Amino acid sequence: MLPHRPIYDPEHALFRDTVRRFAADEIAPHFQRWEADGIVDRSYWAKGGATGLLCPLVPEAYGGIGADFRFNAVILEELWYAGFAGPAADFSVHSDVCCGYLLSYGSEEQKQKWLPRMVSGETICAIAMTEPGTGSDLRGIRTKALRDGDEYVINGQKTFISNGQMCDLVIVVTRTAREEGSQSFSLILVETDRPGFRRGRNLDKLGHHSADTSEMFFDDVRVPVGNLLGTEGRAMAQLMSELSQERLTIAIQSLASAQKAFDITCDYVKERTAFGKPIGDMQNTRFKLADLKADLAVGWSFIDQCLAKHVEGKLDSTDASIAKLWITEMHGRLVDQCLQFFGGYGFMREYEICRLFADARVLRIYGGTSEIMRELVSRSL
Ligand SMILES: Cc1cc2nc3c(=O)[nH]c(=O)nc-3n(C[C@H](O)[C@H](O)[C@H](O)COP(=O)(O)OP(=O)(O)OC[C@H]3O[C@@H](n4cnc5c(N)ncnc54)[C@H](O)[C@@H]3O)c2cc1C
Repeated sequence: MLPHRPIYDPEHALFRDTVRRFAADEIAPHFQRWEADGIVDRSYWAKGGATGLLCPLVPEAYGGIGADFRFNAVILEELWYAGFAGPAADFSVHSDVCCGYLLSYGSEEQKQKWLPRMVSGETICAIAMTEPGTGSDLRGIRTKALRDGDEYVINGQKTFISNGQMCDLVIVVTRTAREEGSQSFSLILVETDRPGFRRGRNLDKLGHHSADTSEMFFDDVRVPVGNLLGTEGRAMAQLMSELSQERLTIAIQSLASAQKAFDITCDYVKERTAFGKPIGDMQNTRFKLADLKADLAVGWSFIDQCLAKHVEGKLDSTDASIAKLWITEMHGRLVDQCLQFFGGYGFMREYEICRLFADARVLRIYGGTSEIMRELVSRSL
């Protein structure tokens, strides 16, 4: 079970029940099909919007509920604990990542136009930083947007973009100056029905099968200068300020999923017998599970510290990077050990632990790899 934590108020507990019911009624019946199809139904988004699960931070003036980030955390915890990484990742990129950029940097007109539609699920949002030639080092981005009168003309290519097949709106990280330097990049909103925008393949992944992840191509895509998000040349600073929330988000995903792997393993070792007794009675099993339980307890405690700071607007890049680094690495070790307790059954796709193992791997990669987290933490030494 997810631990009970004092960081949450009674209103979060009520909301948690709603999310849990949504997972049981609106994801569970379709999940196997979505995993096989490599994508969720579009109606999943509308249902998520109608249930209040999209973009909780959006103020009432733009159609939202103006909640604090703990509501985002409740959605993350429940959907990842339920084992629905793909559909959960879809919502998370939209609500926890893209929405933050519009809230922080959107003009009044952009907020009025996009936020109500993002809250309802009518508009699905993606963010495109990564390119085939560069991921960790965003200064290697080649996609460019050059001014032509009142328009930007965008050319380039992106890859690994979450919600890539289904999105209607993409926040594109692009060069807007010919010279090198951190002031050369900007964020530009691109509607996916613009001429010259093309989606590539829905990529075949190790895990998160129901989440669509894809390539994108921009061939002379023209957008009005009004689609610039924030100030021209400020993309790197904008990314730096928003990435802390993304990293906290991934740490929460990871911890909830680790808790699930741990819980189903505890159940399994009580039932499975070898040498005349449950494998859970063996000292090796008890000691290893005790270590994992301690890891989880430490993880939840640090997450709550970070959550409290974030709600107050005080989470810094170092703490967010520590949370992502330590929790996702711990999760990797934990889910590997849990799978080991299932023996050969752990390797079988029909066992949930097998999917949890596969789904865990990317958490150490996306949103900044563990190595990049170490770089960021080391800057505070
Ligand atoms: C399922 C999935 C969803 C994703 N969703 C999105 C999305 O929605 N939008 C988006 O823009 N991107 C997305 N990504 C991309 C993701 O953020 C990148 O894959 C990630 O940042 C790593 O970049 P890369 O793959 O180019 O690896 P590289 O940058 O090529 O890194 C390769 C290896 O080199 C290491 N390395 C790099 N630099 C250093 C260094 N300075 N010191 C030590 N080691 C280093 C890395 O840690 C890694 O181990 C997604 C990726 C996946 C797999």
